[in-house]
Amino acid sequence: MKSQAVLLRKTGAPLPYAGSSAMEIVEIDLAPPGEGEVLVRIEAAGICHSDLSTVNGSRARPVPVILGHESAGMVVGIGGGVNDLRVGDHVTSIFLPSCGKCVECLGGIPAHCSIAAAANARGEMITGGSRISVSGEKILHYNGVSCYSQYAVMDQRSLIKIDDDIPFDIAALFGCALLTGIGAVRNSSHAQPGRSLGVWGLGGVGLAAIIGAVIAQSSPIIAIDPVASKRKLALDLGADFAISPDDEIRDLVPEGVVVAIEAVGRAASLKQAYDATARGGTTVTVGLPSASEMFSISALSLVADIKTIRGSYLGSANPRVDIPEYVEYWRAGKLPVEKLLSATLPMSKTAEAMDLLTSAQVVRQVIHPHEN
Ligand SMILES: [Zn+2]
Ligand SMILES: [Zn+2]
Repeated sequence: MKSQAVLLRKTGAPLPYAGSSAMEIVEIDLAPPGEGEVLVRIEAAGICHSDLSTVNGSRARPVPVILGHESAGMVVGIGGGVNDLRVGDHVTSIFLPSCGKCVECLGGIPAHCSIAAAANARGEMITGGSRISVSGEKILHYNGVSCYSQYAVMDQRSLIKIDDDIPFDIAALFGCALLTGIGAVRNSSHAQPGRSLGVWGLGGVGLAAIIGAVIAQSSPIIAIDPVASKRKLALDLGADFAISPDDEIRDLVPEGVVVAIEAVGRAASLKQAYDATARGGTTVTVGLPSASEMFSISALSLVADIKTIRGSYLGSANPRVDIPEYVEYWRAGKLPVEKLLSATLPMSKTAEAMDLLTSAQVVRQVIHPHEN
C-alpha cells in the first residue's frame, strides 16, 4: 500500500532543516505485513533526540531511512502467526523488539536484545530485510518502527497493546521517553527512598527520570539544565531543586548525590554527573553522545570513592511488564505525561520540529501523520 512518510536521504545536513532537502515527505510503498508482522495506522509519533541525532549525523544510522521510533496507533492489518493483536487494537511501539532467544532476552532484560540491536543498526526488521520502498528502491527502517509515516509495518514484538481510552499523544510517549527515563531510575540506579538523586538534562527522557525519582521517593531530587522553562517544569513534576549546570550542586548536597542520571548525551555532562556523585553512589548514563566523544575520570576515584558507572539502554526495561504498569501510574495521576507534551503538529512540520528540538527549547513534540 501507499503511505506518506518522512524520508531521510542524507545525514549531517546543515541547519536549519526547515526548507532544506535533508528530510522530505515522500510516498512510500509498504509491503503487506508478513509472518509475525502488523500493519499499523500511525496516529501520533514523538520527535525524540535520537531521531535528531541521526538527522544531524552524531549517531550513525544507515540511510535512506524513514525516521521515527516512538508512536501510537491502531492495528489495521495482520500477517500470519500474529496471535496477540487484532485489527482495531490500539498499540504503542517500542524501538527495540526482543527476539526472546538471545542471552540478553533469556537473562530477563528484553531491552538489551542483541539480535534486535543488530537489526536496528542495519536498518532492517528483526526478521531481516525491509518492507519499505520508493519506486522500487529499498528504504530502511528506523529501529523497526519508522513511524513518521501514515502507516507502518512492524514486527509484532515491536508493539504493545494499550487500552482504547488512552489518548494516542500520551500513548506515543510510553515506548521511548518513559521507558528510558523511568527505567534508568528504577532498573539501573538502585534509587532508594530518602536518598538524593540528580538528573542532568531535562528533555523527555530526563523529565521522565524526574517522574521516576518521584515514584521512587528519592529525596532531594535535583534537576540540572541550562533552560529555565525546563527547570520550572521539573519543579512542577516534583523535583525539589532545579539548577543550571553552572551552579554548584554541592551547595545543595555537600556530599554529592547518591544517584546521578545523565540524560544530556554529552561526555562533558557525564563527567559533571560523575563528579557530583557521592561516595558509594551510582552514575547512570542514558544519553547518546557522538561516538567520538571520550570520557575521562580519575581511575583512583572509582575505587577510593567506591563509585559505579552504568549505562542504561531503553531503561534496561522489560517493556511488556513496565508499560502496563506505567499506564496504571498514569491513571492514578502519578505519571503526568501530558506535561512532557510541548506541541502537536502535522507531519509536514517535522523538519521545523527538529529545528526546535535542536534549539533545546521544547521537550516532546508529537506529529500527526494524517493531518496536513
Ligand atoms: Zn527516543
Ligand atoms: Zn533477544
